[in-house]
Amino acid sequence: MTTYWAEQALLPTGAAKSVRFEVQDDRFGAVSSDLDPQPGDQLVAGLVLPGFANSHSHAFHRALRGRTQAGSGSFWTWRERMYAIASRLDPDNYFALARAVFAEMALAGMTLVGEFHYLHHGDRGRPYAEPNAMSSALAEAARQAGIRLTLLDVCYLRGGLDTTGPVPLNAVQERFSDGSVEAWAERMADSPSGPSVRTGAAVHSLRAVSEQELARVPSLLPPVPFHVHLSEQPAENDAVLANWGRTPTQVLDHHGLLGAGTTAIHGTHLTAADVERLGRSQTTVCFCPTTECDLADGIGRARALADAGCPLSLGSDSQAVIDMFAEMRGLEMNERLASLRRGRFAPGELLAAATESGYASLGWDGGGIAPGALADFVVVDPGSVRTAGSGADQAIYTATAADVTEVAVGGEWVVRAGQHRLGSVSSLLREALSDLDEST
Ligand SMILES: [Zn+2]
Repeated sequence: MTTYWAEQALLPTGAAKSVRFEVQDDRFGAVSSDLDPQPGDQLVAGLVLPGFANSHSHAFHRALRGRTQAGSGSFWTWRERMYAIASRLDPDNYFALARAVFAEMALAGMTLVGEFHYLHHGDRGRPYAEPNAMSSALAEAARQAGIRLTLLDVCYLRGGLDTTGPVPLNAVQERFSDGSVEAWAERMADSPSGPSVRTGAAVHSLRAVSEQELARVPSLLPPVPFHVHLSEQPAENDAVLANWGRTPTQVLDHHGLLGAGTTAIHGTHLTAADVERLGRSQTTVCFCPTTECDLADGIGRARALADAGCPLSLGSDSQAVIDMFAEMRGLEMNERLASLRRGRFAPGELLAAATESGYASLGWDGGGIAPGALADFVVVDPGSVRTAGSGADQAIYTATAADVTEVAVGGEWVVRAGQHRLGSVSSLLREALSDLDEST
């Protein structure tokens, strides 16, 4: 057992000082505050927070950062650039890129990531000799980066949907498809697993399956988290309504796919009845505020969803930004802009979205500094140029990813004094990105 003593911590009961906590194996033991350090305690200088869960990530989108801002473009032109990157990835260069991206997440205090993974096959959809080679590359990348992974294995069978019907897969999208719902479920059954890797299931969106295919998903779902992109763009709603006569939320409900094990990603363009349906079923809704801003998706109805009964989680999605403080603030600030009112979420609600709700949505029992929980925690510098003067309970409004100094996953240090155990993460990123550029 290891014992730690921290100047300050955010506990489930709120901000506390002089906090002593135990870690036994990979979980927290006793947690107490207002105690002096004892001989043998590891001293932690700073503010301790629970580790962050990044509930929605596409690791390879990191290769688009800083390269899509020229010209105006749209969500759909951004998507074309994303497909161009996807076409160049193989298990080796994806491992190198994902390891660097997951290490960037760890540096930012993320201790768990939900990787929404659809790049399954080789050129023109040919399976690799090892059908889960790309999944294994991601699992090994996360292991080396020291971050827990829920690999959300995505069913992606159609190229899109417009108001006149389904669109066939294009040449790049063929790499995403298993050909049928049954083949997807069969391959997913052999998904990599390990102490820090779990499987989740996903349907890309209602653009990526027919209704007949979607109807077969529930009977094939293993008892794991289920994720799906939902109503990110008005065009998606229009196409689903035109083809299926229901909103995307109604379609998922009709097929029994809403519920406490489901996470709907974005949920940006919902009707009042959709909000009520999602809340009643206790479906988690994952907001990705920095991506939703970057792609001009719109402002989702976060407060209304939370009031209706939905747990909220947060994701870095397109990796335009990897900073959970920015996501927490984005959730609140977008609500302020839309409602013309401040304080739409309490600090504890924002922290829960970044921690325990995210852990739950990815199938892990962590996200809090409490006895029995996974010992994943983050230390923030309370005296940086950004945080100096902030109260412990309000540091989430002032800190950035750059203020994270230490990160522990299962009680093991992954980041110390701002340095990842793999060394220079910026070098890893530069090398992975330039290798990818050269593969054109
Ligand atoms: Zn996404």
